[in-house]
Amino acid sequence: MTTFADLHLAEPLLRALNEEGYTTPTPIQAGAIPYLLQGRDLLGLAQTGTGKTAAFALPILNHLLTSKGRAHPKGARALVLAPTRELASQIADSFASYARHMKFTHAVVFGGVGQGRQIEALRRGVDVLVAAPGRLLDLMGQGHVDLAGLEILVLDEADRMLDMGFVRDIRKIVATLPTDRQTLLFSATMPKSISELAHGLLRDPATVQVTPPSSTVDRIRQAVMYVDTGNKREALKLLVDSPKVERAVVFTLMKHEANKVAAFLNEHGITAEAIHGNKSQGARERAMSGFRSGAVKVLVATDIAARGIDVDDVTHVFNYDLPNVPESYVHRIGRTARAGRDGWAVSLCDAEQRAWLRDIEKTIGKKIPVVLEHPYHSEAAANSTMRPPVLGGGGRGRGGRSGGGGGNGRGGRPGGHGGHGGPRSGGRRVA
Ligand code: AMP
Repeated sequence: MTTFADLHLAEPLLRALNEEGYTTPTPIQAGAIPYLLQGRDLLGLAQTGTGKTAAFALPILNHLLTSKGRAHPKGARALVLAPTRELASQIADSFASYARHMKFTHAVVFGGVGQGRQIEALRRGVDVLVAAPGRLLDLMGQGHVDLAGLEILVLDEADRMLDMGFVRDIRKIVATLPTDRQTLLFSATMPKSISELAHGLLRDPATVQVTPPSSTVDRIRQAVMYVDTGNKREALKLLVDSPKVERAVVFTLMKHEANKVAAFLNEHGITAEAIHGNKSQGARERAMSGFRSGAVKVLVATDIAARGIDVDDVTHVFNYDLPNVPESYVHRIGRTARAGRDGWAVSLCDAEQRAWLRDIEKTIGKKIPVVLEHPYHSEAAANSTMRPPVLGGGGRGRGGRSGGGGGNGRGGRPGGHGGHGGPRSGGRRVA
């Protein structure tokens, strides 16, 4: 079996990994790191939870350790673009952790907070800049960032960034970068838009693909309960109240629904916090740290807000609403059964979302077992042939996720929905 030492990483990194308790590289790490240390471009097909952050962070840090060079003022030697502020912060934390035994500077840039500190952090230049595209482009436009000396570019969760409408921002940013650079693109899925982007950005890339979803998804026990819309809260309460539920993430489509569900659970003695794009950074961080510490049992989240949440011992995922994009289902349930543990994913399906469930089952290639023994079972929902709402806006599939803004704090993108997971608006009907 490959070890980190076999990968020829520098000693300060090996020491940090050892302290982190990482004994063996994950498949994406074992596959990608050798290419990256050679300076190759890379197309990495991997989801969150596979160890992809270290797969790019370690070779970048190794490059910083073993090559001469300094960041220009306002510049960076490596840039990581990520879709949301949560993910950007987590990536920056990972870098800082692996770099603990070396000299290393970094900055994180995302919207929704003041820009003064971010500008100050960048003034003298940093080794690694982690940024959400919208805010980075703003700062570039104001002359606070100059990436002419960039050596390595990483696009993380590229499919998400495209879904969120960042493609033009990304292209504008890339246009300012030196062409003589190493470029890495990570994506969980490979729609045509990603292969086009990859084709334009990468030079003779190595491709590394890992399919953890199957092994992870295999460990997730999935179930669906058919319920009427008006019974969803009670059904959820019944589920969440079980002592088996230690730490749960509940997904809703809409921000206001997330708030209502969290309030309802709290009223019934179940500690819950909502996180979504309308919450301040401070409020999100408080919610997340409460959830991590166990003080908060349930995190109620919209899809975009939940991206990149990296908490290992989520025992249950509940889909209060099913997602209208089938791939989101896989992303959502992947919040549980992490780090080798088992997990449950239970979905509440009403008549209107029945068609979405069929699509999800097609995508995952199997039927999700139905739980009938509960007080809220609805035959009407089970047998519903209601057509799914026709969705407005661009995006994939049935309108897909055209929403933007959730992570970058810049509202007003075309088709943007400010951070909730689906393009519904106002009540249960789609605009
Ligand atoms: P990521 O896919 O980058 O979000 O990483 C998922 C989780 O795996 C994070 O909690 C990492 O800290 C952890 N991790 C990454 N690489 C390893 C490794 N080689 N051994 C054990 N845990 C790891």
